[in-house]
Amino acid sequence: CGIIGYTGPLDSKKILIDGLSQLEYRGYDSAGIALFMENSHIRLVRHIGKVSNLKEECKKITTVSHCGLGHTRWATHGGVTTQNTHPHQAGRVTLVHNGIIENYHQLTLDFHLEGKLRSETDSEVAAWVLESIYQGDPVEAISKFTSYLKGSYSFCVMFEDHPGEIYAIRNVSPLVVAYTRSGSFVASDLTALIPYTRQYFVVPEDHIVKLTSYKVHLYNLKRQEEVPELME
Ligand code: GLU
Repeated sequence: CGIIGYTGPLDSKKILIDGLSQLEYRGYDSAGIALFMENSHIRLVRHIGKVSNLKEECKKITTVSHCGLGHTRWATHGGVTTQNTHPHQAGRVTLVHNGIIENYHQLTLDFHLEGKLRSETDSEVAAWVLESIYQGDPVEAISKFTSYLKGSYSFCVMFEDHPGEIYAIRNVSPLVVAYTRSGSFVASDLTALIPYTRQYFVVPEDHIVKLTSYKVHLYNLKRQEEVPELME
């Protein structure tokens, strides 16, 4: 229901938790974050209930991370459990999802995912589909990925072999992006970004965004780069 991603010089854990607290008004069942750690390992922290529970759990992490994703879940597929809480991991792929993947059951069959799934969510199925398609080029994989999906979505994704980078894609569900001198941000809602910047762009439908700590790139599904339309 709420998404936030950050890459840049600041402490991503703090930005993600603060962002999720800003998105709390939307209501949710559980919350989680994924952090890129120094050795390219991606660490997950997930908790059912309030963001304050997640915040408490996150105190255990003492190393600073500069890139991560956060999510507050409004459960549509699968109960309110830690396993069903986003982010979801599938091989090299870690993602958060807003929305519903209607053909998740068919995708489970088509991509032979039965033995791999650890949650009951449509989102984890999507994560495994992306992992199955991924051959090292995130934008190429994501544009192919969307051709398999039916439903409404926005996703933010980190690939284990692309540390410090966040990729985002949307069709119906909203996504906004901001890049500032203190890093790049993506969120489902502007309220999460307001503390950092007033300049942002709305990700156009069916477009992919690549965020690095100092630059943001926008692509259409043919992988052609486009210039984002900035708003203030
Ligand atoms: N359909 C996904 C789930 O149930 C995502 C829900 C959401 O948008 O929070 O986990």
